Amino acid sequence: MAEIESLVHLAEQFGRLSGIGRKSAMRMAYSVLDFTDEEAAEFARAIVEAKTNIHYCPVCQNLTDRELCHVCNDLDRDRSIICVVEDARAVMSIEKVREYRGTYHVLHGVISPVNGIGPEQLKIKELLSRIDDEVKEIIVATNPTVEGEATAMYLSRLIKPLGVKVTRLAYGVPVGADLEYADEVTLFRALEGRRDF
Ligand code: ZN
Repeated sequence: MAEIESLVHLAEQFGRLSGIGRKSAMRMAYSVLDFTDEEAAEFARAIVEAKTNIHYCPVCQNLTDRELCHVCNDLDRDRSIICVVEDARAVMSIEKVREYRGTYHVLHGVISPVNGIGPEQLKIKELLSRIDDEVKEIIVATNPTVEGEATAMYLSRLIKPLGVKVTRLAYGVPVGADLEYADEVTLFRALEGRRDF
């Protein structure tokens, strides 16, 4: 069968999604063909809308479609504590526990010399600019991977001289595991048992 150009093109787009191989991408492209015209338009619009409306919160760098993210917008949040995480998914994981009342800071990655990612590529400048007299504690909640630990160490060395307490989550999760996959009880314990770092 000759290749249908539009179908191949569509499958190529799905293939760009992380974790999607060629076969899955082709299956997804075929299932789009089962959409009504309205459904297809809605699908395409959702992609463009998300990309247009979602940006980084100017304060904590979390994803938001408002001016400020829902945490920074919430006057009841404790601004003396900042929990530093690798990505926006980690914010969602910790929010699900409903125990943490401080604010966040999203680094958008970790220091990884192998991948050519240095501190200047992360939102570290933005974090430092938030540290004022009001801030009493920085919880470093990067994942317990080699890169996550190295990033935590780097931040601790940077922040401690500013006279702010730096703590690290007391991980019950195995080293190398992702915060995203820790269950709520584990995350709750990790937050409760955080230690000076
Ligand atoms: Zn924010």
